[in-house]
Amino acid sequence: MKVIAKQNVQSELRKLPSVDRLLKKPSTQTLLQEHSHDLVVTAIQEVLADTRQAILDGETCPDTEDLCARVTTHLSSMLRPSLYPVINATGVIIHTNLGRAPLSQVAQEAMRETSAYSNLEYDLPAGKRGSRYVHAEALLRRLTGAEAGLVVNNDAAAVLLILTALAKGREVIISRGQLVEIGGGFRIPEVMAQSGAHLVEVGTTNRTYLRDYEAAITPNTAMLLHVHSSNFRILGFVHETPLTDMVNLAHAHGLLAVEDLGSGALLDTAQFGLSHEPTVQESLATGVDLVCFSGDKLLGGPQAGIIIGKKSLIEILKRHPLTRALRVSKSVIAGLQATLIHYLKGEAIQQIPVWQMMAMPMEHIQSRALALATWLREKSVSADVTSGWSTVGGGSLPGETLPTYLVAIHVDAPQELAKRLRLGSPSVLGRIEKDSFVLDLRTVLPTEEAALRKALEAVF
Ligand SMILES: *Cc1c(COP(=O)(O)O)cnc(C)c1O
Repeated sequence: MKVIAKQNVQSELRKLPSVDRLLKKPSTQTLLQEHSHDLVVTAIQEVLADTRQAILDGETCPDTEDLCARVTTHLSSMLRPSLYPVINATGVIIHTNLGRAPLSQVAQEAMRETSAYSNLEYDLPAGKRGSRYVHAEALLRRLTGAEAGLVVNNDAAAVLLILTALAKGREVIISRGQLVEIGGGFRIPEVMAQSGAHLVEVGTTNRTYLRDYEAAITPNTAMLLHVHSSNFRILGFVHETPLTDMVNLAHAHGLLAVEDLGSGALLDTAQFGLSHEPTVQESLATGVDLVCFSGDKLLGGPQAGIIIGKKSLIEILKRHPLTRALRVSKSVIAGLQATLIHYLKGEAIQQIPVWQMMAMPMEHIQSRALALATWLREKSVSADVTSGWSTVGGGSLPGETLPTYLVAIHVDAPQELAKRLRLGSPSVLGRIEKDSFVLDLRTVLPTEEAALRKALEAVF
């Protein structure tokens, strides 16, 4: 058996045409009119290598026409960026896998505009070199009342920088209940180890008292660190030392008090029927020396790590060599500034998509859902509107939901439909619930609805 199979494989492999033969085919000649010789040859070589492997795995050799078609498809996939927009109909507002916060139109435009030359590090009035760090800082100060601010690549970078610059080789005390993993392998204890600060764990998973912190203070202690438990909740017999008490204790001993807030809400989530996520302003009001948070969670801006607090400390951070390695790009600064300006103008809920989505009235979601379901039924697709739940996501407000209306599409194979929509153009992501494929329009921007219909039309 084996020998015969081997002979078959050999004869199938011999049928594989050469690169040169494929290059002479009319369809490849067409490709050569648009693309370089090297690129077309690479596409052919890669298709031949894949086909050779498929034959070794027991498949037969495709005919030359088929191979040529594969070369054309392969070449266009080589030229297609692997990162592209998708429509998020999952109902998870801050979806980390889908790029977290969608930016406001104004922020998107600001990022596009500054992608050419800008005054990034040029002081125009003085006519000399300036600093990229001045741009968002003034807005952050104005919005939060903080003395100073610094923006780095993301919140993990902010934590790393704070610990490295202010506590390297010294002790940082943290509650065992806050030794969290944020996701994507970001674990507070591991970041602390990277920074060279020594982690001193106090208390227990569920209960940490002020006296636990106090008992752990030594002459080598530099800082008390408070990490917001963004993505989980411990219920029951729980005691977390209030931040104010931790801050007062730190200052009584001449130590620094720092809070890693994670989500960085500037507005109160409770106004949308969610529980209250601690805000940046509340954190600062405790007198904490530094607070850091993400730009792309509840702030609703681009990926960034924002540090605000005491000017003397921010100055140390700005001068630290690590800051250069963690610096933000001009387009991020532009997007962040535009986002912060929405808050300053008091229009964040109207303009910033994450807040717009949280604030979206039920009747509004329902009428959009009904319109889409009606449109689907006109296309003879079995669809209706059901009630369901959206979530905030992005490691904020764990377990919290917002009531919503879902467009439920009833098909025999919802998994198959989900896959076709994921791979469609544009790509659409929904959920499967009770054997139906569902779309939550809360997270679909109104400007995306036409594209959503196009994607649905293509699969039905
Ligand atoms: C999300 C989060 C981080 C990581 O933020 P990134 O901006 O993704 O680096 C760090 N700490 C806390 C408490 C978080 O919630």
